[in-house]
Amino acid sequence: MSDCLFCRIVAGEVPATIVHQTETTVAFRDISPQAPTHVVLVPREHAPDAAALAAAAPGVLDALFLAAGEIAKAEGIAETGYRLLFNTGADAGQTVFHAHLHLLGGRPLGALA
Ligand code: C5P
Repeated sequence: MSDCLFCRIVAGEVPATIVHQTETTVAFRDISPQAPTHVVLVPREHAPDAAALAAAAPGVLDALFLAAGEIAKAEGIAETGYRLLFNTGADAGQTVFHAHLHLLGGRPLGALA
């Protein structure tokens, strides 16, 4: 069994509210949402962060962004706007070292710190 939390969510070993799945990506609602819509999109394949994912499987990055756009439409926030971000490394606040794209929206998000 993997000790990576998001690998375990992808494998169905840890529960999550999944909102979208493709051959290469899985998206689920963040357990501690920071906005009315807060979805975490992960590649099925493990990579520790976005840079490693870009090096190993750049096409999967495309798939994550494509899926994010589809989820934004489904959530009704495609027109009002939303934020996509990868926390990369400890100083950025990355706590789970399996690359993941945050999709946040449903309220004005303000400027980045
Ligand atoms: O970018 P960072 O690594 O901090 O993001 C990890 C995210 O995963 C957090 O927003 C956290 O709330 C979320 N999470 C989750 N389900 C879990 C564990 C963490 O949605 N079981």
